[in-house]
Amino acid sequence: MLNVPAQAFPAPGSQQRAALGGRSKVPLKPGRSLMDWTRLTKSGKDLAGLKGQLIKVTEEELAKHSKKDDCWICIRGLVYNITPYMEYHPGGEDELMRAAGRDGTDLFDQVHRWVNYESMLKECLVGRMTLKPVAVTTEACCAISEEKRLLNGMLPKIKVLDSSSKDLTPSYEWFQTDYLVTVVIYTKQKGINSEMVIVDHQDGKLRVDIILRNYSYLLHIELSYAVQEDIAGLYYRKCKLISKTEVTHDTKLFCLMLPQSTHLQVPVGQHIFLKQIIAGTEIVKPYTPVSCSLKSDFKEPSHHDSTHLILMIKIYPNGLFTPELDHLQIGDCISVSNSEGSFKKSQVQTLEDLFLLAAGTGFTPMVKLLNYVLTNVCSLRIAKLLFFNKTEDDILWRSQLEELALQDKRFEVQFILSEPTKEWMGKQGKISSSLLSELVKRSKKDSKTLICVCGPALFTEQGIRFLQDLGYSKEEIHSFTA
Ligand code: FAD
Ligand code: NAD
Repeated sequence: MLNVPAQAFPAPGSQQRAALGGRSKVPLKPGRSLMDWTRLTKSGKDLAGLKGQLIKVTEEELAKHSKKDDCWICIRGLVYNITPYMEYHPGGEDELMRAAGRDGTDLFDQVHRWVNYESMLKECLVGRMTLKPVAVTTEACCAISEEKRLLNGMLPKIKVLDSSSKDLTPSYEWFQTDYLVTVVIYTKQKGINSEMVIVDHQDGKLRVDIILRNYSYLLHIELSYAVQEDIAGLYYRKCKLISKTEVTHDTKLFCLMLPQSTHLQVPVGQHIFLKQIIAGTEIVKPYTPVSCSLKSDFKEPSHHDSTHLILMIKIYPNGLFTPELDHLQIGDCISVSNSEGSFKKSQVQTLEDLFLLAAGTGFTPMVKLLNYVLTNVCSLRIAKLLFFNKTEDDILWRSQLEELALQDKRFEVQFILSEPTKEWMGKQGKISSSLLSELVKRSKKDSKTLICVCGPALFTEQGIRFLQDLGYSKEEIHSFTA
């Protein structure tokens, strides 16, 4: 479920209602604070009690679960098992029991309208009601369609929905209060996270892009007029440049702020496209967002992640796109697309050995990936970066990399220069079979390994070939491409 600040969506003709009267709180037992609840929801415990299954609930079934030790309630068509939450509820058990075994939407709205219950109770989700108890009342015209990707004149691949995928097509409903527009999307898939949903609000239109099982579903809501806009192609929103800082002599960090009404969190390993009009022609180039440093913790994606994008970009004096980009002043805007990319976090979930072969700005996808695996992948033994550059001056975030290697025993970095000075004592040369056989070694026989490659096209091609010759399987090699 998505809650969009209603500031951006004034309900036509509505007046702000006086705040609802306060409610009484009951003292909670020790160990029953909101923080304790958050911890419990992240513990992996089956709080819904259905072993990860989502079911359809009839009114009769809902009514059966009306006791403290077996209590379900329905809010906006979604049914939650709130028994595990009882002791953590600041309003007390009795207040919750008023909605036991029935539709508690009205009760909830009287007291908690602003509470983000869908996030707080998401691990308690049992399923949805077979009959929707909430009616959509606001005048609306909506369209849902599979989005086609169109880029630089290339036709998108045609996707054929088979009968099984048809069953999984999400459905939705939406409603609006003075403060909030809420869109409920029913996906029949657990584990939806904020990276899978992109929300934009522009010119009175709400646009929600939901990415599920390799399909992108577009939800387009206009408050008062029919939607006529062409919805094919990549979607762009204007982002403001808020800072530009030097990384090396030719590479800079560009920090872009997304519009206030946009939610876009670029997943690990994915890129966005920047668009500029250069000499009267629309030019589009891909860039991979990085985190602000190599140390940021990935366990809790921060608010900053969905409001800002940080791009590490090399400026080519003879290039077409980057000199124009470099001319942008703080406060100027640039068009930024939705994210794309074939990398999946599941590729690293139970990983033991990770090797990253990066050349020049091919380092950019490695930044978030490193942060992610070092923080989240418990099985990880080795994360080794082989970083290919021309000279020492070209090495991006060298001191951060060296510091990280000192801090984290699992991480190792090796710089390899193709045009070193005579003083350089480290490795030299370009990517080669002998270099890879020396530096890419499994921590143990049959260790679960992934090797990620990114750099100039020839570097990536050669890297993949050498790795396959050394016996690594296709599944063990990932190359980042547009
Ligand atoms: P271009 O005009 O493409 O020129 C680049 C260089 O090549 C210049 O030195 C130019 O003189 C030379 N050149 C151009 N044409 C020729 C030719 N025909 N023969 C010989 N030399 C030529 N880059 C980043 O800096 N950061 C990123 O995060 C990033 N992410 C990317 C993600 C993906 C998925 C991909 C595919 C690329 C990414 N890139 C990234 C590269 C980026 O998309 C651009 O290619 C890069 O910024 C160069 O753009 P440009 O138009 O300024 O230069
Ligand atoms: P660069 O020209 O400074 O070269 C860096 C190193 O790459 C060199 O020292 C060398 O070791 C290696 N290299 C360069 N050309 C090679 C070749 N022909 N054969 C073998 N090795 C070679 O690098 P740069 O200017 O920073 O370019 C980075 C490249 O990475 C760009 O082409 C960019 O498009 C690409 N990139 C791709 C992605 C992605 O996700 N696909 C992301 C970022 C950058």
